[in-house]
Parts: sequence; structure tokens; C-alpha cells
Amino acid sequence: MPDQDRVRAETIERLQTIIRFDTTNPPGSELPLALYLEGSLKNEGVDTTLLTPEKNRAQLIARIRGNGNERPVILLAHMDVVGVQRASWTHDPFAADVDGGYLYGRGAIDDKGMLAANLMTMLLLKRELDRSGQKLSRDVVFVATCDEESGGEVGMGWLVENHRDLLDAEYALNEGGRTRIIDQGRCYLAVQAAEKISHVVTVTAHGSAGHAAVPLPDNSIARLGRAIAQLSNHVEPLLLTGLTRQFFSRLAEIWPNQVERTAMINLGDAHEARSADAGRILSQTPVFNAVLRNGISPTVIEGGKQFNVIPDTAGVVLNVRTLPGQSVNDVVGRLRAVITEPGVTVEVTQRGIEAPASDPSSSMFKAIADTAHELDPKIAVVPYLSTGVTDSARLRRLGIQAYGVLPFPMSQADEERMHGNDERIPIESLHFGVRLIHGAVARIAGARL
Ligand SMILES: [Zn+2]
Repeated sequence: MPDQDRVRAETIERLQTIIRFDTTNPPGSELPLALYLEGSLKNEGVDTTLLTPEKNRAQLIARIRGNGNERPVILLAHMDVVGVQRASWTHDPFAADVDGGYLYGRGAIDDKGMLAANLMTMLLLKRELDRSGQKLSRDVVFVATCDEESGGEVGMGWLVENHRDLLDAEYALNEGGRTRIIDQGRCYLAVQAAEKISHVVTVTAHGSAGHAAVPLPDNSIARLGRAIAQLSNHVEPLLLTGLTRQFFSRLAEIWPNQVERTAMINLGDAHEARSADAGRILSQTPVFNAVLRNGISPTVIEGGKQFNVIPDTAGVVLNVRTLPGQSVNDVVGRLRAVITEPGVTVEVTQRGIEAPASDPSSSMFKAIADTAHELDPKIAVVPYLSTGVTDSARLRRLGIQAYGVLPFPMSQADEERMHGNDERIPIESLHFGVRLIHGAVARIAGARL
């Protein structure tokens, strides 16, 4: 067992170094950070490959070789971060200050904390293997990507396109889950095994163009207003997948709120009215609602250029997020049926790509759960369908069983600082995360520690 105090100090120091590289995307500029990671790994004898898809952009792949009995496991994290509103921060977002038990900085949660945990996992494994002389049952592959926050075209998209051979793996661990502290220190670890798919749907109202001095009954903006009113009253049907069933039934084991806990148990009950009632109760919480049905959010409104000209079209852009296996065409069909306003069209303008779900009873899932229980015997480990989109979808399309974990136990309030002001990670949670990733990877790669 490595000396936990030394590991703790090294983790903090490395995360601080990582945060101090300003990788705000755009423009990203991840190359200097990738060089730091490369140096840290090479220094201890780990093989690395540095790839540069664009000037000053980079991706780093590092590999600890196993005996090849099993297919590799990937540890994935992205190096770029979203921008900051500096004036709203109490700490310099790129200074990585430690204060009151927290480490502050842009990316501390998303995703540099995990990047540091993955780096530490590689270094700890390498040191243990060098010391004991044992061989892993599979390769452990560290992947640090660029450009995730802008959609990943230059990052994971580019890697899949150009270096697919380097991504050959059975399993992957990535961001996208949650380790949430809910009540009196009790925690649940939500391991993301699938994600919703994001599409863009445009609703356009058509009418006659004309001079605003002569009001027209088919004014496109007025039509659009009535159409939006109709579509916002529409609720997509509740859909229970195997994954959401497991999510709620396991969450019920530790959920503090009595009414919600009963609803979690009754959801999917053979008694139809009881199940429907449970769905109604859980749907009142927006995040639960989002995993129970396809989501429709109006996000952009377009129409008109000048105060005295009636435009012939006006439109609203909807971000539609479908559950895996659900068709966006069916959602559009239902929207067309509820919008009875004449002269209104509904079209899919950008189609997301379907990705299969990862198996919530695989050896990787079990390795994560077993390690979590070892660290915290009372933790509930639940498979989870995330409402957000991550690079894991690209890996699942390659046939890799990818799982999303945010391995750092956090309250909702701390977690909400992700992409916000004063992003910070509790030092204790950082250490828990390193032990969780290291333990799960050691397990799945057959290392005796
Ligand atoms: Zn992220």
C-alpha cells in the first residue's frame, strides 16, 4: 500500500500544476499541459504518444502494457476547460489556491480533478508493478483529450477518425457520473452507463410579409407565439428503461425524503395507477424528469429584423434530447400533432447519433462498485443515464463499454459550481477519487496491491 500521505500531497501538487495551465476553450491551447503530462509519465518509464491535431492543440496517450490476456481499459479525461467570469471569482481561477479544505480553480471538478486522478493512477500502478515485478492482465491506457468543451471534433472526434487503433479497448472510465453526498454524509455513486442524445429541431411559422402599418392576420411572429404556447404544454410520455428502473430502485435504498423514496420504489409497479402516480411525483424534480422522458427545451428565437417590416417567417430552435432507443422523428410527429396553429412547420435540423448503453452488470461496473464499497461501506452504487453529452458516446459507438464517474464525493451546492464561479474540489474528495479510480483499475487489470 502506498503511503497515503505522500500520495495525497503529490495529488494536490499535480492538480495545482494542471490547473495553472490556462486551457480555456476556445482556444484551448492544451499543448503545454499535454507536454507536462507526457514528461511526468515518461519520467517514470511509461510509454507515451503525443498527437497534435492542430497548432497548439494536443492529445496524449500513455500505456502501461499488460500480458494481453484481456483487452485494454481506457482512463479518459479532457484537458480543456470552459471560460471564466473573473470578476465573480473570490480566488484567481488559474492560481489553484488551497483554502478551507478546498482546492479552487477552473477545471477543479470538470475535468482536471479526474485528469489528476487518472495521472496518479498511472504513476501509482507503474511504481507498484516495478516494485513487485507482476504483470497486468490488460493494458491500461491513459487518454487526455483536447476540445471536449467545444464538442470534441478536434479532440475525441479526431482521435476516433485518425487513430482508432490506439483506442482499442474493452472498457473506458470517463467523466459523466456523480458521487453525491445527500444526507448526513451518506453518498451515492451514480455510474453513467448511457446518455441522452441531443438533436436540434426548428419550428418555423410562415405568414405574409408586409408593411407594419397594415396589420395582417397571418403575422408569422404571432403565429409562432401561439405555436410555442401549444408545444410548451406538451409533455413527452414517461419511459422506463432497465437502466432508469435500476437507478431509482437502488437510489431508494438511501433516499432521505419519504415521499420520493416511496415513489422510487413504486415506479414500474405492476399496478398501473401506482406506477403513474410515482412517475408524477418524481417528475416534479427537473433532473429526475429529464431521465424519465425525452426532453424538449426552446433555446433560440429567430424572427424579424426591423420594427416596421412584418417578416414572412419566425422560428424557435428546440434542443430535443431523446432517451436511448427513442426516435427524434417520433417526437417531431407528436409536436406536429399538438401544434394546430396553421402555417407552422417542424423539422429536425441537426440529428444526434445514437450510441448503445454500456452494461450495468459488467466486470468493470462491478470493479467500480466493489472499490467504492471498500472505501465507504454505506455508499449506494447506481447505474445512471445522464442528461448531458460526453465523449463516452463516441467510445460506445466503437463497441467500448464506457462508464462515467465523477469520483469525488460532493454536495449538490459544490457540484453546481462546475462551469460556474469559484469552482472548487474538497481535498478529501480528491483523495477519495484517486483511491476509487486506482482501486477500480487495479481490480479490472488484475493487479494485486
Ligand atoms: Zn467535462
